[in-house]
Amino acid sequence: MKLRRIIAVWAAKLTEKISVHVFHKQGVTWAGKIALKICPSILTELAAQVKHDIFMVCGTNGKTTTNNTLCAALEAEGYRVVCNHTGSNMLNGVAAAFVLAAGWNGNLNADYACLEVDEASTRRVIPHFSPDYMITTNLFRDQLDRYGDIDAIANLFINVMKVAPDMKIVVNGDDALTSYIALESGNEVIPYGINEKVLDGKDSKEMHEGRFCRRCGAPLEYKFHHYSQLGNYACTACDFKRPEVKFNASDIVVGDDLKFSVGDKKIVANYKGFYNVYNILAVYAALKSCGAKMDHFDEVLLSYNPGNGRMESFEIDGTKILLNLAKNPAGFNQNIAAVLQDKTEKDLILQVNDREQDGIDVSWLWDIDFDDLKDGNIKSITVSGMRRYDLALRLKYVDIPCVVEDDIEKAIKDRLDNGCKNLYVLVNFTPLMATRAAIKKLEGQK
Ligand SMILES: [Zn+2]
Repeated sequence: MKLRRIIAVWAAKLTEKISVHVFHKQGVTWAGKIALKICPSILTELAAQVKHDIFMVCGTNGKTTTNNTLCAALEAEGYRVVCNHTGSNMLNGVAAAFVLAAGWNGNLNADYACLEVDEASTRRVIPHFSPDYMITTNLFRDQLDRYGDIDAIANLFINVMKVAPDMKIVVNGDDALTSYIALESGNEVIPYGINEKVLDGKDSKEMHEGRFCRRCGAPLEYKFHHYSQLGNYACTACDFKRPEVKFNASDIVVGDDLKFSVGDKKIVANYKGFYNVYNILAVYAALKSCGAKMDHFDEVLLSYNPGNGRMESFEIDGTKILLNLAKNPAGFNQNIAAVLQDKTEKDLILQVNDREQDGIDVSWLWDIDFDDLKDGNIKSITVSGMRRYDLALRLKYVDIPCVVEDDIEKAIKDRLDNGCKNLYVLVNFTPLMATRAAIKKLEGQK
């Protein structure tokens, strides 16, 4: 078996190198596919060589940020970490992360593994190894045509927890859906959340998934919502309610950075957007639970620069640009909240595609609270992407004028030349990297 593994590792590494250097394409997925083809047990064998813990990060929003932050925190302590940084979060991507981290001798020298796994891929990954921890961020309505309804995802999670009974579940206690699944699983559960109401937001139009108790079907009653379905809930008929959280974020201040406390630990993070409190809290809960060193945790959070288009800042010729992913109603509404947090004048570019990875059904645009933008001190809105006319129509319905521009680079350049020096670019999944590249290109020209 060892020889087979060595051949698989060599083949994968060469595939990846050839893809990058000859075809200028990222070859991660291919590398994983080839390795598994040559040696089907390679993922099991390599995962077994991880010295400490394997983390699997799942959920609709926040996977990449949570996983990359966790990995950065562990690496800052000098640990060797296997991680699918590139966001290749299906089986082949996970396999590639291990295989490409292995040595040419076919062995892996790693202390931890941090893996973000696409919800639908959890059931394909789990037969290969059992993670020590599953971190679930949330379950929101997302890409209906690709994933099916939220119950289908919930069932996937239930099955995954069932086949890995020793896996501890670090769960967002404010999400009734994932909490219920975790609590019913019988696995050890480590809930995190926010006990007190923080934002004085109105109730969103966006669909709240956690309306009914999954145990008995009766309506859930909420003391408050943080956003979307996240909040403090209890069933009106049975005893299901928000679990007491082990890690609670308090004294939250959202601004140019995030400040909050967890117990007597003060956290200051160079992250924007309220929702990132949850992502950081999940990482903190995971690190505390697994007993890893955290000597450099504060520095990691302060110097955070995602470099992957998630709340990534740029500055070109005096214009501040913030690029962020917004791929479903919950994410989009959180982005709008972050835009509104900034009281200064701003330009906004929205870009939505409808490729397979985005979901071809864009009816979700109607669940976004665009009318909030009316009070947002917004100088201009430009819409782009394959579904630019759907965006324009959606905005027309709330009487918000916009400019339609097919070419995203032109749209950005125009705002650099004629805008108010404060630009937000919100895009869904498939345009993200190309738009980031366009910004980098414009950065290089100045
Ligand atoms: Zn109930």
